[in-house]
Amino acid sequence: MKILVVGSGAREDAICKSLLKNDDNTVFCAPGNDGMKLSGIKTISINEDEFDHLTNFVQTNNIDYTIVGPEEPLVNGIVDFFKERKLKIFGPNKLAAQVEGSKTFTKKVMADANIPTAKYREFTDLESAVEYLTVEASFPTVIKADGLAAGKGVYIVQDLNEALEVVSELLDGHKFNTKRVVIEEYLDGEEFSLMAFVDHKRFYPMPLAQDYKKIFEGDKGPNTGGMGAVCPVNNISDDIRQMAIDQVLKPFVHQLYQEGIKYTGILYAGLILTKDGIKVIEFNARFGDPETEVVLPRLKSDLSDIFVKILNHKKIAEINWETKGLNLGVFAVSKGYPQQPIFGSLGKVADFKNCPLTINFAGVRKQDDELISNGGRLYLMQTRADSLSHAQADIYQNLQRMNQENIFYRRDIGKNSI
Ligand code: AMP
Repeated sequence: MKILVVGSGAREDAICKSLLKNDDNTVFCAPGNDGMKLSGIKTISINEDEFDHLTNFVQTNNIDYTIVGPEEPLVNGIVDFFKERKLKIFGPNKLAAQVEGSKTFTKKVMADANIPTAKYREFTDLESAVEYLTVEASFPTVIKADGLAAGKGVYIVQDLNEALEVVSELLDGHKFNTKRVVIEEYLDGEEFSLMAFVDHKRFYPMPLAQDYKKIFEGDKGPNTGGMGAVCPVNNISDDIRQMAIDQVLKPFVHQLYQEGIKYTGILYAGLILTKDGIKVIEFNARFGDPETEVVLPRLKSDLSDIFVKILNHKKIAEINWETKGLNLGVFAVSKGYPQQPIFGSLGKVADFKNCPLTINFAGVRKQDDELISNGGRLYLMQTRADSLSHAQADIYQNLQRMNQENIFYRRDIGKNSI
């Protein structure tokens, strides 16, 4: 099969590598990055928002089907655009991608399906938001911009003053291109991610994963796109996973279907285990990053076969996953990330080729015989081991052998699984 993957990060690298486990597949990635080329992925210099160029490429090169990594093209209707041209593409259409694109849409679906989530109110005018914050809200509270904000639209505010500053900034509409905010109850507990392949009413859950969002060790500092991840999650039991499937995934997928939304693609549930049970933090309309980088290496079934079956709405009898050990992934990011990343050399291409562990590349580019930083998150190094301490030892030993000058990484990824 000839498959096109849309996107340019470590998540897309992991999807491509998983597809390449089947020798019959040729995998293209648009736009991809220079690091991916080291493992035989063919990168195409078309950006993820150039729908016209992407469909032209697919038609000219007889691509069998396309998979979309990031949320933005999904929310902007890439699936509808391909389907209008009778091209096969794996992912939710524009309407269905609202599960990620609109927090108020998703909150309503959850309310209709009785799915536990943080209590919330939505506001479009500053006066009502200020009144609510002054009279009713308790702190800490969470303020979110409605719409896509690349993980940066969430503010956990500790007091009224901070809250007023944030709502005035958000409702001004310049920062995130939306004039709607959601103010919701702060949830306290252990966070975990549950992803599933979804085919209308049918869904196939993946193993649980946990990502580490804060920049510094001990979960301190600002949120990032994710500093590393682990799969499975030892500190969340199988019973809790089953409850998450029964109380969240199943009713959500069925509610969408009942409302006439035929969801095809990956559904990601960001969950939290509170003292009152499991609650939903958010839904995403695609594979999580960096969860995918540690989940897909545990897939024993053929990923391309799963995509084809779902695209043809054929039932999948069984999806097999590795049950032993765990997978751990640690992101090397630019020093200064997420505020002000500093760019520079990451070392010789040969150092990356010779690394015995799998590397998923993100913000890197090649210059002569070196890789250079080209973004905040640079590359994720990952391994599978029988225990967390072995996995950590393996990864940190190999990360230490890389050029340290321009990179930073957390040394405690996976700590909650001990
Ligand atoms: P999101 O972009 O919705 O995934 O939010 C990013 C992060 O903000 C989550 O992973 C949580 O750590 C935190 N967060 C979001 N909503 C809440 C909430 N209601 N209570 C506590 N933390 C939250």
